[in-house]
Amino acid sequence: MLVVRHAVVGPFAENTYLVGDSETGEAALVDPGGELDRILPLREPGGLRVGRILLTHGHIDHAAGCAAAMKRLGAPCQIHPADVPWLEALPQQAAMFGFEEEGLAEPPQVGHHHQDGEPFALGRQAGRILHTPGHSAGSCCLFFEEARVLFAGDTLFAGSVGRTDLPGGDFEALERSIREKLFPLGDDVRFYPGHGPSGLLGDERRANPFVGEASRRGRFV
Ligand SMILES: [Zn+2]
Ligand SMILES: [Zn+2]
Repeated sequence: MLVVRHAVVGPFAENTYLVGDSETGEAALVDPGGELDRILPLREPGGLRVGRILLTHGHIDHAAGCAAAMKRLGAPCQIHPADVPWLEALPQQAAMFGFEEEGLAEPPQVGHHHQDGEPFALGRQAGRILHTPGHSAGSCCLFFEEARVLFAGDTLFAGSVGRTDLPGGDFEALERSIREKLFPLGDDVRFYPGHGPSGLLGDERRANPFVGEASRRGRFV
């Protein structure tokens, strides 16, 4: 079974997820945003082992704890190459957005640059990288097809979408990413966003005020 646990961390209430395979205990950390003392205990029930750190994108609220988590866990991190400049600028992002926790915001050494469509496995759970630019140029989602689970980063939220006013942001690209890459995955897919509660893709396809059918009819709710 695919296990999904989360902790809400940092000044932007970011969702850090632990995702793993309950049968083999293999797991990954998604977007460690800081507060490692709250993230690392997510491994405990079942003794899950974090073998990799997956970054949906390079904004500080998602990556502030990455270098520290890599050291504590001995696990490599991966991100889309288009968002590497955000990681390199983590100290500047920290100063700009008021991240003051000791030891955070160190630029991590990237172990792997992932690409659209790339498969990966956590034990018997098969995942796939989906490049979904718009919130940032290198934003990606992580899809577990059999488990019907998507980690959406800041691309899609329950009832909203990610902001596109930061450097590299592009609303039309975001719209295309969501409509052409995420919605076709299926209405039954549960998505876990970078902020706020999880939801079902079908609900967003119908009623999301920015990218759903309601928005096409010009009916903002
Ligand atoms: Zn972001
Ligand atoms: Zn965020």
